[in-house]
Amino acid sequence: MRILVTGAAGFLGSHLCERLLNEGHEVIGMDNFVTGSPENLAHLANNEHFSFIRHDVANFIFVPGKVDGVMHFASPASPNPGSPYGYPNLPIQTMKAGALGTHNTLGVARAHGARYLLASTSEIYGDPLEHPQKETYWGHCDPIGPRSVYDEAKRYAEALTMAYHRYHKIDTRIVRIFNTYGSRMRLDDGRVVPNFIQQALRKEPLTIYGDGLQTRSFCFVDDLIEGIYRLFLSDETMPVNVGNDKEISILEFAETINRLTGNPHSIIHRDELRLGDDPQRRQPDISRAKAILGWSPKTSLEDGIKQTIPYFAEKLGLA
Ligand code: NAD
Ligand code: UDP
Repeated sequence: MRILVTGAAGFLGSHLCERLLNEGHEVIGMDNFVTGSPENLAHLANNEHFSFIRHDVANFIFVPGKVDGVMHFASPASPNPGSPYGYPNLPIQTMKAGALGTHNTLGVARAHGARYLLASTSEIYGDPLEHPQKETYWGHCDPIGPRSVYDEAKRYAEALTMAYHRYHKIDTRIVRIFNTYGSRMRLDDGRVVPNFIQQALRKEPLTIYGDGLQTRSFCFVDDLIEGIYRLFLSDETMPVNVGNDKEISILEFAETINRLTGNPHSIIHRDELRLGDDPQRRQPDISRAKAILGWSPKTSLEDGIKQTIPYFAEKLGLA
């Protein structure tokens, strides 16, 4: 297939491009580098099956030649207001990537009769009142809270994708991605994995926002991409959670990182840096992915973190 991947220069987008190329597809990457980096695609520069268009998906998209698949990953994704790459500092771009970007990419799929996959998020469940979160849960979101620019854009993106599916009969997929980590995450995007690993490698205390009792469930990038690829190839048009269902508190997560890096400098609480609306618990129910895709995550948190540390060490010049 000839597949357009938006957000190609980002963390997940770059891993996805690589996987699609390894599967024998032709890939057109698209990105405007607002949070991503050309470095993430440098290793694909000489691949004859890969091409790149620098473009903001909020504007009309033209792709020369045929397109068989569209995978829409372009969007800022970090909630951290302390980073220039966090969506609280890119609020309009975030809403435009989710709203106009989804509209334009669906337009490409419609014009070409292509299959479409939307990268949605666990954030559509908000600060959930149901635990673990099943795809049937409608969510608990504040439409004007600090996270709303991201959550509401993604909720709109899901609604628009279903509208194109139901009205225009576009062949669509929606993946609800839960916290994922691995190489090519931005060092300075403020998400918990890059923050903790780099603090640990620099032998500094890890910054816990709030009491650290809030939970997340962390998925290794290779597992996530496997689930997404299987969903893309499947016939499933309703949303599917893809993530690791092993729940861990941020406090325990910090202890794990300190142990794996040999950091003696424990933790420091930075309550003032915690974003309002920060979900207290998050864990995917992945029974649909297991049943429909025959997929479940294979990599333990320890193994995934061990595979990720060298990337951050190299970025920090500590390798
Ligand atoms: P990222 O910031 O590394 O990648 C996003 C990419 O999109 C960047 O390269 C950025 O430059 C590009 N982009 C943003 N706005 C754009 C625009 N208007 N036009 C063109 N390109 C644009 O983030 P990521 O973690 O790789 O996230 C990728 C997608 O997956 C996002 O849609 C995000 O919402 C979703 N997601 C990620 C996670 C996760 O844990 N990483 C969890 C849930 C959902
Ligand atoms: N967090 C933290 N210290 C940090 C960065 C994040 O304690 O240096 C917390 C944050 O408050 C949240 C969790 O870790 O509860 C995960 O945050 P992240 O920014 O990775 O993404 P989220 O899952 O909130 O979208």
